[in-house]
Amino acid sequence: MAKTKQFQTESKKLLDLMVNAIYTHKEIFLRELISNASDAIDKRHHLSLTDETVPAADEHEIFIEPDKEGRTLTVRDNGIGMTEDELVSEIGTIAESGSKAFMEKLEKKDLDIIGQFGVGFYSAFMVAREVIVRTRSPYADTGYEWRSTGESTYTIETIDKDDIGTSVIIVLREDDEEHEAYYSEYLEENTIERIVKKYSDYIRYPIRMEKTKTKEKEDEEVEAETYKEVETLNSMVPIWQKPKSELDDEALNEFYKRQFNEFEDPLKVIHTSVEGLITYTALVFIPKKPPYDFFTEKYEKGLQLYSKGVFIEDKNKALVPEHFRFVKGLVDSSDLSLNISREMLQHNRQLRKIAQHLEKKIKSELEKMLKNDREKYIEFYEAYGTILKYGIYDQFGANKDKLKDLIMFKTSKSDEYVTLSEYIERMPEPQEAIYYASGKNKDQIMNLPQMDAVKEKDYEVLFFTEDVDEFMVQFLTEYEDVPFKSIQQGENDLLDEDKKEEIEEQQKEHSKLIKSLKKALKDKVKDVRLSGRLKDSPVCLVSGEGLSLEMEKVLKQMPQSQAQELQAEKILEINPDHELFQALKSVHEKDKRKVEDYANLLYHQALLIEGYPIENPKEVSDLMAQLMVEATK
Ligand code: ADP
Repeated sequence: MAKTKQFQTESKKLLDLMVNAIYTHKEIFLRELISNASDAIDKRHHLSLTDETVPAADEHEIFIEPDKEGRTLTVRDNGIGMTEDELVSEIGTIAESGSKAFMEKLEKKDLDIIGQFGVGFYSAFMVAREVIVRTRSPYADTGYEWRSTGESTYTIETIDKDDIGTSVIIVLREDDEEHEAYYSEYLEENTIERIVKKYSDYIRYPIRMEKTKTKEKEDEEVEAETYKEVETLNSMVPIWQKPKSELDDEALNEFYKRQFNEFEDPLKVIHTSVEGLITYTALVFIPKKPPYDFFTEKYEKGLQLYSKGVFIEDKNKALVPEHFRFVKGLVDSSDLSLNISREMLQHNRQLRKIAQHLEKKIKSELEKMLKNDREKYIEFYEAYGTILKYGIYDQFGANKDKLKDLIMFKTSKSDEYVTLSEYIERMPEPQEAIYYASGKNKDQIMNLPQMDAVKEKDYEVLFFTEDVDEFMVQFLTEYEDVPFKSIQQGENDLLDEDKKEEIEEQQKEHSKLIKSLKKALKDKVKDVRLSGRLKDSPVCLVSGEGLSLEMEKVLKQMPQSQAQELQAEKILEINPDHELFQALKSVHEKDKRKVEDYANLLYHQALLIEGYPIENPKEVSDLMAQLMVEATK
């Protein structure tokens, strides 16, 4: 007895769309079925190596059978097959894969993307009146038949089927002349052969079909005799094994989209073959944009791994270093044994060598892009720059030398990105450090009080506008022996000797006032000092040599409680040339207790400029009100 079941809601939507598709390239349904068959064979092959219940097949093949009388087209494989549960969960439900991504894009109602997506099994309903799946899994005691006409239900019943594998039988629709849809063409041998060559030529298993041949005619009078012969339709050469001369960008881009469920061309294709101590071919792509989960733990890096064209693993992590985790693609090496377990693979020496090689290759391709196609590099950098910076910070800076020439910053002198080597090159004579400043954006940084002295010197300052920047610089520390230096941290080395002496003099002269300020702020700052780095601003906050203010801000946002307790050493710097300092002096002379209020306000003013929240807004607001009132008395 056949059981009737409902399609899951999302599946129904996709089905509906397929049934009513006005899409012109309906032929891609065959590509999808062949690709499923090929995946199923991959799975069986793998399992047969490790799981006794799965017998290996003598020969793997995909067979296509057009039947003009029955109006059916069958795609048969000897892959892994499906159990009853799998029929329900895999075919009655939309999986995570291509179809899901497709559904998401569908909101935009762009039917043309059907062709670019692996829309999978359901695409059969673009041409089918009914689809029948007859399947047998090594994990089931019987075969099953699944049937649906593409409406809201399907049926499943048990059948006799001994051989492991799956047949997908498509009962073609009647031709629809009005809409110029000729489904009968999918029964023509020539059409089938053309479609297979076009989309599935690289499939690693033979795709076979019985073809009608005509015998040589000996006698003109007699009608030619025909006979049937099985032919393999595909060349089975994977695209990455074809000579580069045979491949154009379009072919590679198409392959990329199909293989990795992408709908946009990649930003960059890196196709490389290496022979020698290690032999491998890699086809690596940099997607235009990172996927939505790229910066989460859910994202899995890795490259597909093949051995002589045979699929081994979908995401081999060892092949891609963390800092290049954005690449997609595959590696095919003849040096790898097929029988080796995945755990062992991760530690395989050959694999490590390939990974090292590949990392160098990716790096050099990126450097080339930076040199020869700046615009494209900027597109790349805006998508993945953050990851490169994390790479510098990662593992205590172990990879910094590989990455330092790939990072760029906007600066106080340039709205375009500047590399570190470009920065160094145009550094004026007496400058001895690479200056940087942290902040939310250009405006905030340009308005920092600490920028005054830098502007005066006409030095260039790198903008650190990402959280990762300050962490990165902890490990980068220098570039070509020029140290990095924050304009918001530590002693100010931008001053010349005369100015330094002058400040020291003033510091002595006003030591009492400074002492009172320090006392007033003793819980808030580590030190109060006069500063020569300020021009127009009355005060600023700088941090000592350890944790910077910017890092403190980032750490405060982290969930770990230890991180929240970490504090930067804050130092309040006061501009002795500012009118406010004069005011402070006179307040100090008149009423020593008032200094405390002033100190508090100055401190909060400095916090504000640095982009910090005010610790006690009520208190600050009261103080301000009080001062305003006093001013008019
Ligand atoms: P996708 O291939 O992107 O996962 P499909 O809709 O094409 O999506 O297929 C859904 C699932 O159905 C497959 O992942 C697979 O588990 C199963 N499937 C489809 N065709 C076959 C087949 N010929 N043999 C075994 N399983 C299959």
